[in-house]
Amino acid sequence: MPDTDCIFCKIIAGEIPSEIIYQDDEVMAFKDVQPVAPHHYLIVPKEHVATVNDADETNQKTLGRLFVAAGKIATELGFAEDGYRCIVNCNKHAGQVVFHLHMHLMAGKQMGWKPIG
Ligand code: 5GP
Ligand code: ZN
Repeated sequence: MPDTDCIFCKIIAGEIPSEIIYQDDEVMAFKDVQPVAPHHYLIVPKEHVATVNDADETNQKTLGRLFVAAGKIATELGFAEDGYRCIVNCNKHAGQVVFHLHMHLMAGKQMGWKPIG
C-alpha cells in the first residue's frame, strides 16, 4: 500500500514530477534531485517499504530487482564497464532522510573508499 505521506510513493504515482529513467512492473528509477555524481539515480521498489529493517521474505523478489535494474541502467547509459556504486542507507547513522527504501546508483567519476565521512 502506498504511504500517503511518502514523497517517493507520490513520485511513483505521478503526483510529484521526476525525471524517470527506467521502470518495470516492480521498480522505478529517477534522477536524484541533488546529484553528487555525474550520474546519480534512485532506484525504488514500487511498493512502499520504509527501510531495510522493514524488508522481509515477501519483499525479496522486488528488492532483488533493484540490482537487476541497476545493471540494466548501467549498461543502457554506458557506465557498466567503468563501474558504479550502489548504496542503500538505513536510518539515522547512515543518513537516511527519505523513508521509502531506495538504492542510490552513482557513476561517472572516480570515487574514493570510504566515500562517506
Ligand atoms: P537518503 O539519504 O534517504 O538515502 O537519500 C534520499 C535522496 O533522495 C537524496 O539524495 C535526495 O537528494 C533525494 N530526494 C529527496 N527528495 C527528492 C525528490 O523529491 N525528488 C528526487 N528526485 N529526489 C529526491
Ligand atoms: Zn513510499
